[in-house]
Amino acid sequence: QEIIARYQILERVGSGAYSDVYRGRRLSDGLIVALKEVHDYQSAFREIEALQMLQDASPNVVAMHEYFWREDEDAVLVLEFLRTDLASVIAAAKKSEKGSLGVGEIKQWMLQILSGVEACHRNWIVHRDLKPGNLLVSDDGVLKIADFGQARTLLQPDNVALDNELQSYEQNDLEEQGYQNLNLEIVSRDEYLRELGEVDTGDAHHDEAEKETNSCMATCTASESDDDPFFKGSSYSYEPEEGGAGGMLTSCVGTRWFRAPELLYGSTNYGLEIDLWSLGCIFAELFTLEPLFPGVSDIDQLSRIFTVLGNLSEDAWPECAKLPDYNTISFGKVESPTGIESRLSHRSADEISMVKGLLCYDPSQRTTANELRQDKYFSEEPLPVPISQLGVPS
Ligand code: ADP
Repeated sequence: QEIIARYQILERVGSGAYSDVYRGRRLSDGLIVALKEVHDYQSAFREIEALQMLQDASPNVVAMHEYFWREDEDAVLVLEFLRTDLASVIAAAKKSEKGSLGVGEIKQWMLQILSGVEACHRNWIVHRDLKPGNLLVSDDGVLKIADFGQARTLLQPDNVALDNELQSYEQNDLEEQGYQNLNLEIVSRDEYLRELGEVDTGDAHHDEAEKETNSCMATCTASESDDDPFFKGSSYSYEPEEGGAGGMLTSCVGTRWFRAPELLYGSTNYGLEIDLWSLGCIFAELFTLEPLFPGVSDIDQLSRIFTVLGNLSEDAWPECAKLPDYNTISFGKVESPTGIESRLSHRSADEISMVKGLLCYDPSQRTTANELRQDKYFSEEPLPVPISQLGVPS
């Protein structure tokens, strides 16, 4: 095969839900690359499509040199090699003597993330899986958004005719499959806790999968099918390394931690704003070096969010009653939400309001990546440190 003739595989460096990633060498010139073998056609297609579109859009999106389709419908993507990621930067900072990241460093990481996300959004690409582990970092401190296996190109909002057509098409599709609504009601804290106790049982998984099937009616995204790995939760629950309580939970729950509330409520017409919610969680983590909302199930995820921000309500977001699961998931009222401040103690007012601006229930109220980049926070002392001065774990 062509790829074998042109690249030498050196070692395996990682694997994901549908992929194995190897460090490799291009034989023609010795360039070190990442060879990402994707075993799922749809995921490979999405990643290739997004990366092609973004090639020259930002220095903060991983570069794809070329790709190959194999006869078995697997694909191999040849990517620039980046040795580490923001999750490792966070872990190293936590272990460091100082125990935190400097404000100048945080600002530079943020600016790079924002540049990458802005490029995606400018091209109507929603990444859908932003988290520190998917923000790769080069030895010289350049951060690049990676793992576009769940990315999607959105139809633009003014394209209503096409939107409606898609919607009715997919509605029929779902009815044919005998789609059933999940009937989940949690009224009290006790019941909620009982529910939580059940999350690791097969039944709960089944419920979750069923609930997520509910989320397959895309009204705003390009053609969709019922085996969408994103929605079924399968990319988490069917992950090869997932084995229950011990270890290896990062990729499993990691994504959930950064998931916007409208997705947890089964939204099907979400937009770019779901990435902005993830950004809020990532930025909070840069400030505290701890995940903001480390939920162990989708219900627990919502509960953690509500404890801090208060219940999702029509006051906070008038449209929220239209969410598919709005009436099937109900929580006891959080009487006195702790507020984001409670999670960002000792941080400046600017930093708190930045995170608040991203973690709005109403997606349309979230600060966009482009707006954030121009925030005065980045032009005030302490200034972002130069990229070359960022601490990159060895
Ligand atoms: P998946 O979509 O299956 O989750 P990822 O793209 O997240 O796959 O890759 C899985 C792992 O492979 C990553 O966590 C990382 O360790 C490694 N990896 C991915 N892309 C690169 C790259 N360009 N350079 C170096 N390592 C990479």
